[in-house]
Amino acid sequence: MPELPEVEVTRLGIKPHLEGRQITHVDVIDGRLRWPVLRGLPKILMGQRLDVIERRGKYLLLKMTNGYLIIHLGMTGVLRVLAQKDPLKPHDRVVIHFDQLTLRLHDPRKFGAVLWHPATKGDVLHHPLIQKLGPEPLAEEFAGQLGATRLYQYSRKRSISVKAFLLAGQAVVGVGNIYCSESLFEAGIHPGVSAGKLTKAQCERLAHAVRTILKRAIAAGGSSLRDFVDAHGEPGYFMMQTKVYDRANEPCRVCKTPIRQITQNLRSTYYCPQCQKR
Ligand SMILES: [Zn+2]
Repeated sequence: MPELPEVEVTRLGIKPHLEGRQITHVDVIDGRLRWPVLRGLPKILMGQRLDVIERRGKYLLLKMTNGYLIIHLGMTGVLRVLAQKDPLKPHDRVVIHFDQLTLRLHDPRKFGAVLWHPATKGDVLHHPLIQKLGPEPLAEEFAGQLGATRLYQYSRKRSISVKAFLLAGQAVVGVGNIYCSESLFEAGIHPGVSAGKLTKAQCERLAHAVRTILKRAIAAGGSSLRDFVDAHGEPGYFMMQTKVYDRANEPCRVCKTPIRQITQNLRSTYYCPQCQKR
């Protein structure tokens, strides 16, 4: 499933090719996505200019002349910029034409979304899907002491594990299962600790770790940027070299203790019992 780093790498991959271009035509091949694609979307988008591609959490926000096109990749979505003449592939769902170039949403499982938010409805950040998202981990609002304070305040009196607390996304958005294990290792915090028991110092380390890990993951995806304009490439999916995730029983990269795997809320967590003591 694409996580925040994959979505950010997607944004970086498609942005230089599309910003400033005008939509000439839209093909909705199969609009039965997470929510049905608006029937009138091709007509609405025709002739509009794509000004800039932004991101909030895992939502890509394509700022158009008269509003925002909101795209979510769901579980299996991939966006790619290809020449108009490149043949369609099975599972291509929506194709947006910009003269000779096209932006294609390929999504086998169809949990992705393509939504229209007209400018008349106000700021896209107030869209119901986006409004409730926690702070953006890589933005100023989560930098330094702000991030630490946010984690500390939101975790008070919470008895859930710090892992569940991070995954819930209210204190900070975009920390998925892989990056959660990695961030807790980086911060030296046991994943089973109650969120409410985190000290201020631990919240500082954790806020810093979340940013470090996500930046590292995005950097790891940097080498795949050209795949976004390659008909044969498989863009958007990559894996950073992890320190604990998916390394059960392998030696910790810091202290050589075997990495432990546990299940929390039905999902795997990996940690080092030595570096992340309770
Ligand atoms: Zn260790």
